[in-house]
Amino acid sequence: MPERLPRIIGLPYDAASSFRRGAADAPDAIRAALHSPAGNLWSEDLLDLGSSGMLTDAGNVEVTPGEHARRNIEAGIASVLRDGAVPIALGGDHAVTYAVLRAIHAEHGPCTIVHVDAHPDLYDEFEGDRYSHACPFARIMEEQLAARLVQVGIRAMNGHQRAQADRFGVEVFDMRAWESGTRPLVRGPVYLSIDLDGIDPAHAPGVSHREPGGLTVRDVVGLIQRVRGTLVGADVVELNPSRDVDDLTARVAAKLVKELAARMISGERP
Ligand code: MN
Ligand code: MN
Repeated sequence: MPERLPRIIGLPYDAASSFRRGAADAPDAIRAALHSPAGNLWSEDLLDLGSSGMLTDAGNVEVTPGEHARRNIEAGIASVLRDGAVPIALGGDHAVTYAVLRAIHAEHGPCTIVHVDAHPDLYDEFEGDRYSHACPFARIMEEQLAARLVQVGIRAMNGHQRAQADRFGVEVFDMRAWESGTRPLVRGPVYLSIDLDGIDPAHAPGVSHREPGGLTVRDVVGLIQRVRGTLVGADVVELNPSRDVDDLTARVAAKLVKELAARMISGERP
């Protein structure tokens, strides 16, 4: 048994969404899919996550909008880490990742972030908000909370964010690079941040910003299973249950949570 086991923590926060609210309902929708009798809690490498203590749940962090929300989220993640567990944060919109990373950095120092998303989320500010869900990775890189930021699935880059990526030394593997077979090489402590809109809307329609031409569910499962190093934390964000089709995307999120948990339990991958 590894020393550190995964623990789910819900972050029902969507006040930083630029376009459409709804992600605050996601943590409970993902839990419902995870525990649905339509599936089971075994991972693909045959770990029974339903057996006692394997995958625990810290419940939802109580979040009020604004600066307090970031503090609440950071404190929630810090308490999971203090218990010796590895956090799997359920968003919420992607703004939560900045607050999560502050707590991860306090525990582990700067790690490598592997960020799955259609969007780079590198805006300096968006519609006057520096803490918008379009900005978290700009804040993370400014505060040097990560040693490397590796982005996968990107297909909605623009001029400003390209300049930001250059400024911060972000390694962008866009969909064209992915399609050509290029894969990032990472090692050491790794944090995996999964925006569900990185997956093609054909597979994951329940998001606020549907961007065609994306990853398959299988691509992301493979990324989780094969990523090197030690997984020190992860998030699955931007599920919008009000946009979902028959809980399809909630089930995708639950699948990713299972594989993340299994990857954390299996420990370091050299
Ligand atoms: Mn995002
Ligand atoms: Mn996105």
